[in-house]
Amino acid sequence: MPHKRLFIPGPTEVRGENLAALARPQIGHRSAEFKALYARVNPKLQQLLETKHHVFLFTSSSSGVWEAAVRNCVRERVLCCMQGAFSDRWKEVAEANGKQADALQVEWGQAITAAMVDEALASGHYDAITVVHNETSTGVMNRLDEIAEVVARYPDVSFLVDAVSSMAAVRIPVDDYGIDVCLAGLQKAFALPAGLAVASVSPRALDKAATVPHRGYYFDFLTLLKHHEKSQTPATPAIPQIQALDAQLDDILEEGLERRYARHSMLAGLVREWARAHFSLFAQPGYESATVTCVKNDRAVSVAELNEQLAQQWVMISNGYGKLKEQTFRVAHMGDTQEWEIRGLLATIDRLLGH
Ligand code: PLP
Repeated sequence: MPHKRLFIPGPTEVRGENLAALARPQIGHRSAEFKALYARVNPKLQQLLETKHHVFLFTSSSSGVWEAAVRNCVRERVLCCMQGAFSDRWKEVAEANGKQADALQVEWGQAITAAMVDEALASGHYDAITVVHNETSTGVMNRLDEIAEVVARYPDVSFLVDAVSSMAAVRIPVDDYGIDVCLAGLQKAFALPAGLAVASVSPRALDKAATVPHRGYYFDFLTLLKHHEKSQTPATPAIPQIQALDAQLDDILEEGLERRYARHSMLAGLVREWARAHFSLFAQPGYESATVTCVKNDRAVSVAELNEQLAQQWVMISNGYGKLKEQTFRVAHMGDTQEWEIRGLLATIDRLLGH
């Protein structure tokens, strides 16, 4: 079965060079070579995130780091901003870890605004807030800069941000925004295979973690810190993924962050323009994602059938997520995707749908 080129919002397409980096000979995770690898990766992640904070590596998908963030940084009660499948699920994770969690809920497709956050935090009930920057299920990207400005007015509230489908595609100046935990898995805009996640963790978050009981074992920030200071991880990490991350960060920095962000913005513009011409957009106007476009299927085409036809050309897009299946479909334009690929995809869909 030939490989299908992925235009789904994760896992995304991985270039051959990075697949090759996965196949480098293994090294021991207590060896000098590993320490050198770890020490190379960290400053590049700090550069990407514009942060002086430590950036930890997690051998887990992003859901594990959701758990880590709430376990280490929620003392009692957390406000969970909910607007789609993933942001909704982070609350479930908080509750499953014994935390009291309240919803700041909007309809799927709508954005969480700074004013909403301000009103909820003003209650004084919360010691942490979870925000998903880019809700992958609905194609909505919140204004993180505006939300950050509000959260900064509440210094006792830990600011926990899921940047799973925005990190490495959209500028996130972690220190300027005062983000305590900024997390992402690598199988989205990093364009690497699934299995590794990263998160910047602020000194304030580490101090707080020291006062929070039952942080668990695998995701305890203080244990991670102890090993991080020796350029190591507490347990055996996904070494191939770290080797690929090292290679990909070089390519990301060589492309240039500004250019990478501009490319994402340009590709999003192309897909949106196409979607508006033939369908409409699911996201609240003004909050359309830079990495994934969620198209409202208002002509009721069969998305499953369209994807079957695309599969014959070794290409795949994504149906709507969960309850949005067939009502929407999603085209991802993140990672290393280039203009010619998006134009080719859209032209192919046009022909298949008889536009
Ligand atoms: N957060 C967001 C915004 C996501 O899009 C996803 C998955 O698509 C997750 C979290 C969960 O990631 P994972 O399934 O890799 O744990």
